[in-house]
Amino acid sequence: MKFKYYIALWASKLAIVALKITKHNATNFPGIVALKICPDFLKYVAKPERIIAVSGTNGKTTVSNMISDILRADGKNVMNNSKGSNINTGIVTAFIYGTSVFGKCKKEIAVLEVDERSVIRIFPYVHPDIMLVTNLTNDSIMRNAHPEYIRDFLNKYIPKTTKMVLNADDLITSSVAVENDRVFFGIDKMETDVTECINLRNDCQICPKCHHKLKYEYLRYHHIGKAYCPSCGFKAPSYDYEGKNDNLTDMTIEVKDKEGSAVYSLPNESIFNIYNLVSAVAVLRELGYSHEKLVALFSKLGIDRTRFNEIKVGSNTLIKLLTKEKNALASSRVFDYIHTMPGDKEIIWMNSCQGDIESWSENTCWLYDCDVEFLNHESIKHIIVCGPRRFDHKLRLKLAGVPDDRITMVEKEVDAPSKLRWIKDDYIYVLYGTDSFDLGMKVADIVEGLMQERKDETNG
Ligand SMILES: [Zn+2]
Repeated sequence: MKFKYYIALWASKLAIVALKITKHNATNFPGIVALKICPDFLKYVAKPERIIAVSGTNGKTTVSNMISDILRADGKNVMNNSKGSNINTGIVTAFIYGTSVFGKCKKEIAVLEVDERSVIRIFPYVHPDIMLVTNLTNDSIMRNAHPEYIRDFLNKYIPKTTKMVLNADDLITSSVAVENDRVFFGIDKMETDVTECINLRNDCQICPKCHHKLKYEYLRYHHIGKAYCPSCGFKAPSYDYEGKNDNLTDMTIEVKDKEGSAVYSLPNESIFNIYNLVSAVAVLRELGYSHEKLVALFSKLGIDRTRFNEIKVGSNTLIKLLTKEKNALASSRVFDYIHTMPGDKEIIWMNSCQGDIESWSENTCWLYDCDVEFLNHESIKHIIVCGPRRFDHKLRLKLAGVPDDRITMVEKEVDAPSKLRWIKDDYIYVLYGTDSFDLGMKVADIVEGLMQERKDETNG
């Protein structure tokens, strides 16, 4: 009912004012208020001219921020949900901010990060013009079951009119919305590729056509790579947007499509971030941007420093890395990345499920799908486990073969920095989860303080 919609809009606008006066962060509260009054608020709210949705297991926050930043750098008036959550209350909040008190949409384009499980509450009312699916991989088991379940779930709710931008290097993602207009991105063979899966998880081993075992021309990690079936000739989709000639010395990659190509700067050398960049370029090209213009716009942006941050003080380097808890694949990628990096390392592993500990805890089986074995590496000299899941982490490290003398256990995260061994010229990694984000920043600050003290002592 339209009447209820206006009441909901005004009440949530008042909620924003009240939050501002009381100096509270707005987050999702306005959306919660609006949905309480008008459960189908999204049906009535005015929409911008164009809507981009970004979903997928990993990378959706980074990519949707990247796309929003580029559009803003180009002077566009963009609505997005980067300050709230990626579920319906966060998206409703973004629309409330983007709507005037008279119900008029104030923004020209929306870039919405959409949680895979929330499409059921969003897509009946909000029809994206373009939707990017970054990848569909193993995630929190209790919430997401397995990636094919999520694929089928997306297929139920994605509107038929939405143009899909999909990852061709992920057979599960590339089977999303098969009846829609679709384009694919991927990355050509890289030096570090293999042909056999070395990870504990491989969620796509069987040919979708004939059910024989798939092979890979090149495999990056888990089931991400270029698949083919030697029995029936099935092949992964070819690339409309192809990342190629990656150069990790110059930190560049070329992105090529049927109209041309350009060389883009990489935010960092992790494979996740290379995919993030290529997928963002694909979406922006679909929006009509030329490569030339995009290269210029990308060069204006820095990267999201809260997700990847490196600080060098004296002879030591601190690296803060978001290592999503409950997500075996995201954590595996981080562990893989660390073991390939140069130098000696110490790690503070603190991505416990903080949000769960008050009342319950998700089972810890994700730790056994996760390639903790990467941490059993000679360059990783010391690992400090801390926080409510420290015993589980220690057990998992021991099962991965990490020697006892390389593991230290301490109850409180904030006490972990005092246990560092300060190996000369070492790299100190602080691995926090989404639940332990604020605590992770606090621990990293303590480490940075100690680094400064050591530097001052050396200089003094
Ligand atoms: Zn086959």
